[in-house]
Amino acid sequence: MTDHRLAGPILPGATIGMVGGGQLGRMFALEARRMGYRLVVLDPGKDTPAAQFCDHHIRAPFEDVDACLELARRSDVVTLEWENADVSTLRRMAEHVQIHPSPDVLEVAQHRVREKDAARRLGVMTAEYRAVRSRGDLRAALDEIGAPAILKTARMGYDGKGQAVIRDPAEADGAWDALSAGADDFILEARVPFRMEVSVVCARNAAGQVATFPVAENEHRRGILHLSVVPARVDAAVAARAEQVARTLAEGLGVVGLLAVEMFVDGGRILMNEIAPRPHNSGHYTWEACPVSQFEQQLRAVCGLPLGDAGLLRPAAMVNLMGEDAGTGLGRAGVADALAVPGTALHLYGKAEARPGRKMGHLTCLGDTADEAADRALAAWERMTGTE
Ligand code: AMP
Repeated sequence: MTDHRLAGPILPGATIGMVGGGQLGRMFALEARRMGYRLVVLDPGKDTPAAQFCDHHIRAPFEDVDACLELARRSDVVTLEWENADVSTLRRMAEHVQIHPSPDVLEVAQHRVREKDAARRLGVMTAEYRAVRSRGDLRAALDEIGAPAILKTARMGYDGKGQAVIRDPAEADGAWDALSAGADDFILEARVPFRMEVSVVCARNAAGQVATFPVAENEHRRGILHLSVVPARVDAAVAARAEQVARTLAEGLGVVGLLAVEMFVDGGRILMNEIAPRPHNSGHYTWEACPVSQFEQQLRAVCGLPLGDAGLLRPAAMVNLMGEDAGTGLGRAGVADALAVPGTALHLYGKAEARPGRKMGHLTCLGDTADEAADRALAAWERMTGTE
């Protein structure tokens, strides 16, 4: 067997394997197709957003080791849009094919305590935190950190799921009872009185070239991203520090591919909240607003190609279209109204069924300033969803 780690760049015509077939994989697939690559997707769903644009869909659960090995066998390189695949299976796949980011990176990113330990080791600040595995641990951690604090499951948490806010120590037992039925591994974090949430998507290729996209300012609703505005409306020094944090983590962890870093701005301080070794919802604006999208950049990074220009062509704002928002199901009465807002682009992910909490698509608006882009995005969203 040839040593795949010594191979040169993976060129158009080659097959890229994608773990996960959701909207991130779909946008990656569109870019991969445009650039002449073939794509194989592993995902348990039927007619998933990415499967609509791939050459082959292996329809199987991520726990299916044989299906994972088939993905490895069919691909010249494997990347992912879903970071919670089993690490020992990924290590077996890595005996046959390059996987970017590596199973070692995924092992860190799958666990909130490990990712914060890694950040601290690399000199990146985080909220105070403690690992918690029992009711007794929780009491001890709360004594040290104090309230308000947030108890989170260490694994599989996303979009605010698996979290309980503890405003007062008397609420500790209730938080434990609410979360401990479904998990046994937790983190307790001090609640940060942040001024703003920001994120940076950073790319790194195997040659060590690094490119960071501009800082996005993020607003959440019910724990799910609602609006990203770029450039983030922060001092240049704060923005530079946020980009440096993302670069430090991508380099320190040895990421090949993308690393999205969510951070809190607390006064002049930047605290890392979490990392995701894949494209990120807050990076969707790059499709319209940057010379290369985060998806093309992922492809370039994992294929060993030079990274593209990640600068900002124009200020932009992105707003999510959720399953509960009227108008994002199959009757799209507001589409024409929304597209009449200048600088607006519509993305829909091809999901047949609109459910509350499900991301159905997004709108991105360009503007002359971040404020104008944000105003346009919210106006387009109101028109699309019929929300005042
Ligand atoms: P996460 O799943 O960790 O991204 O958390 C979801 C959201 O909860 C974040 O975007 C924040 O708005 C909020 N949050 C999470 N952790 C903290 C924290 N330590 N302090 C304050 N807010 C937090």
